[in-house]
Amino acid sequence: MREPFPSTDPWDLVVIGCGPAGSTTARVAAEAGLRVLVLEKRRRIGRPVFCAEYIPRALLGEVALPVEAVAQEVEHMVTWIQGKVAVRRRLPGIILHRDIMDEALAMQARQAGARILTQARVVAIHQGAIRFLHGGRLHLVRSPVIIGADGPLSLTARSLGLGCRDHLASLQVEVPLLRPLEETEVHFLPEIYAGYAWVFPKGATANVGVAMRRRGTGSLSGLLMGFLDDLRKRGLLGADPPLRRTGGLIPASGPPHRTTEKGVLLVGDAAGQTDPITGGGIPAAILCGKMAGGAVVEASKKGDPTHLDLYEAAWRDRLGRSLQRALRRRRSMEEQWHRKPFHLLIREHWIAFRQYYEEKTS
Ligand SMILES: Cc1cc2nc3c(=O)[nH]c(=O)nc-3n(C[C@H](O)[C@H](O)[C@H](O)COP(=O)(O)OP(=O)(O)OC[C@H]3O[C@@H](n4cnc5c(N)ncnc54)[C@H](O)[C@@H]3O)c2cc1C
Repeated sequence: MREPFPSTDPWDLVVIGCGPAGSTTARVAAEAGLRVLVLEKRRRIGRPVFCAEYIPRALLGEVALPVEAVAQEVEHMVTWIQGKVAVRRRLPGIILHRDIMDEALAMQARQAGARILTQARVVAIHQGAIRFLHGGRLHLVRSPVIIGADGPLSLTARSLGLGCRDHLASLQVEVPLLRPLEETEVHFLPEIYAGYAWVFPKGATANVGVAMRRRGTGSLSGLLMGFLDDLRKRGLLGADPPLRRTGGLIPASGPPHRTTEKGVLLVGDAAGQTDPITGGGIPAAILCGKMAGGAVVEASKKGDPTHLDLYEAAWRDRLGRSLQRALRRRRSMEEQWHRKPFHLLIREHWIAFRQYYEEKTS
């Protein structure tokens, strides 16, 4: 039986949030012998799923996935613009069972020695003190280092004045497919403002969703219904009701100017490490979780908190350029959404087209 909280243990590290960023950071620190506590507000790790569950294979190097977390492999991504196929690109990837992946990553952290407390909602963070609700009571823990891995609306980031300013809002359903689909589909329509719709196949079903900036005129659910109708007309879907409905916010303003401050490190969505164009953030969360864990271990070994700053430099070195490019593309896409011929706009602002990677001087 698990011991109840409170515990009198002193912690070397408290991690807030047990998504991919938090569990990876916790595992790395616990493997090095640090005493790690993870506080997670949900009852079950990874459930419900707020994700379209796609990872490009090129980014998989960072992710040691259990085989049972893989729902389907895909080889190509087809980009549609205004109802027509614009380009079909080889983009091998994996559609996950995200709940299984998150649970597996948490298990790895546990096996390394981290203590994970679920149904523990952090409500305040101030100068190394963390207050959280658990079992109907307010608790207090202290830690020399805190990891804010608490997702797109991160309380940790907001408590430092570093919260994400802009998000994409999304809505998704998992629906049965009438025939297997071997590739991912991304659809651009003028009414889905500065976002897109997707079909990501998962064997007999698919994740079908819409994400856009809130300034769009239509409602997300109206746009999703219209998109589902289009897929029915193409013979991809029948009349079966959705098996699951989900959604959530995706950071779209890139990282803040700092992600380490006063013994607090932000990781994953909390740090805006999510790609502002594609909305993908799982590989970055895991990669940056490894780097954050490494920096915490180094700082602890040397007894020198300035080593925490290594994290800032390390992750910006790996991801900074591509995130900055995606952020520039997002800003320009939003500015030009109603101004430029739609095909041209998407070609310049979507990763499937060569123009996306070309730097403009103007
Ligand atoms: C609809 C949708 C589709 C997406 N599709 C994809 C995709 O196909 N591929 C991809 O790579 N990315 C996708 N993303 C983005 C991806 O889900 C995130 O980038 C990824 O989950 C980031 O991991 P994380 O660990 O930083 O945050 P999260 O996975 O959000 O984990 C944060 C954890 O912190 C917990 N938490 C939050 N606040 C508190 C608190 N106060 N106290 C305690 N615990 C707290 C949460 O319960 C959660 O478990 C999608 C996102 C959405 C919303």
